[in-house]
Order: sequence, then structure tokens, then C-alpha cells
Amino acid sequence: MPSKANSAVQGVGCKLSLSFHAIIEMMNDHLSEDDVRDAIVSGIQLDNPDGDGDKYEKGCIIVIADNKPCHFNVITAWNTTTNNHHSIKDKNYRRNRYERRKKRKDFCSRCEKGVLEGGMYPLEISGKVLGKFEGIGCPYCGMIYFSEKSTPEIRKILAGFKIRPLDPTELLLILLGSSKRPVKGAISLMKASFLLFKEKLGEFDIPVMSPNFIPYYYGPYSFDIDQAIYSLETHGSITITGKRASDKEHFALTDKGIDETNKLYESLPKNLREHLYQWRRGIDEMGNDGILKDVYKKYQSYTIKSKIKDKVLPNWAHKRA
Ligand SMILES: [Zn+2]
Repeated sequence: MPSKANSAVQGVGCKLSLSFHAIIEMMNDHLSEDDVRDAIVSGIQLDNPDGDGDKYEKGCIIVIADNKPCHFNVITAWNTTTNNHHSIKDKNYRRNRYERRKKRKDFCSRCEKGVLEGGMYPLEISGKVLGKFEGIGCPYCGMIYFSEKSTPEIRKILAGFKIRPLDPTELLLILLGSSKRPVKGAISLMKASFLLFKEKLGEFDIPVMSPNFIPYYYGPYSFDIDQAIYSLETHGSITITGKRASDKEHFALTDKGIDETNKLYESLPKNLREHLYQWRRGIDEMGNDGILKDVYKKYQSYTIKSKIKDKVLPNWAHKRA
């Protein structure tokens, strides 16, 4: 529902900071920072039942941004004529959570636990840091918004890649599309995404935006992946069924998701799917416990906050952590 036209005053001298995801989407859809600013300043503001951020629309340009005073943190932006991945279903609980977080101005609107800090932040693709750039970031969840000053250089670096770096949403589609069976359990989904990112895609020289995995209660965890899971569900690409946070929770592609995944695989090396098919069989056989053990043994630096380390690894193993 259109609520109001933004007054020009609000946007005078308005600064933008842009997420890595926003920069890639903008490059994809040939949008400039000025296009985005123009949509925010002179477009209409719409409800965004989808989740974080407010939604601005001007013509065929949509921008999702978090408004800090005199400053907009652009979460994503796209051109509706070149992109069709945004059918929106009502997600009131996510929206309510966002509204609640927004009241605490200095806090990161994604995790609500960290305070955004200015500084130099890494541009990380496939685990390699390709430079550090001015921006603001959340020390808790790893969310980064690069300043407008940084974006020309970042765009130049990204343009040098033969394949556009994959985002966390695409990482999940590749994982879910590597077998006809659903992934069982949120822990397996997170850990398998971690292994796919850390170990598999590099073997095929496929660039991936870093999902910013951090050590968390169940080992490596990524707020980017978590957000991507719910955005895929919201857009009707996956279904999530079964008891939440149990190994009965199933993550499966819908017909729409299968189409998107097939297109994605067509743009990637031919033997990737076959290779991942074998890999997924191994992962599925390991089950939740097995995959946790595997990850905990190989990546001990991600287990420092773990609440379940004692259960996952025998005593001799976590003493070495
Ligand atoms: Zn945060």
C-alpha cells in the first residue's frame, strides 16, 4: 500500500551505504548509486511485509533500505523489468521484528546485537580478501555496508570475474538442487552450506560472496545464510516443513525453485552437478550428528562458542581446540 511520497528535504545530501549484495544486484540490473538515491528521494515509500528495511519504488526501480538519520543503508535494489525473483508474501513476524529493532537506532537492524561501526571492511570472495574498503559494519553478525566512495572500485573488481560471484541465496539453491531429496534439519542445512562454500565450489573455481560464517552456538553459523533461507521461502522457491529446529524440519525446492536452480546450474561448469550429487549422498548419509562431527573436527576455530561441543566431540578432540 503506497503510504507517502518522500519529501525532497529528507534526501538532500543523503548518503548511501551499500551491502555487497546490493552492489552485485545493481550491477546485474545496470543501476547506478544515483538511480537508487533517486528512487529513495523521489519515489514512493511502500510497506515491506517481506522483512528488513523499508521499500522504495520509482518506475521499475525498487530499493530496500534501512533509514538511519541522513543515511540510507541499502540492503538490496533491483529493476523489475529485468528481474522476477520478488513475489512477496506476508511475513508479519519478520516485519514486526524489524520495526522493533529499528527503534534502537544505533543497533544493527539485522541482528540487533551489535552496534554499527565505521571502518575499513574486507571485500571477501571465496574466502579471499580482495581489498579493504570504507564502510560500516556490525561486529556481531558480520553485516557490512560499503560507503559510496568505495563502490566504484568494488564494481571494478567484480567486473573482472568471468562468473558473477554467487550470493548466499544461490549457494543454498545449489545445495538443495544437488539431490532430489530435501535437506533434513536446519543444522545440516547450515553445516552443508558451510562445507559447500569452504570446500566444494573452490574446486570448480566458482566465486562466492563470503557468507560471513562466525563461530556460534552450534559451530559455524551465518546470518547471511539464515536470511537467505527465509528470503527463498518468502519468494516461493523453497518450502520449509516439519518441526522447527529439529532434524524433522525439511528444506525442499518448489517447482519454481527447481526452475531457478536448473538455470543456475546451466551457467556453471557442466560436471559440477554430478560431482555434488555424489558429495550430497555422503552428506545425507552422515546425518545431523555425522556432519556436525565432521565440521567440528576440521574447523575447530568455529566451535569456540559452541554449546554442544561436549556432545559432538569426544573429550580428547575438543581439548585440542
Ligand atoms: Zn548485526
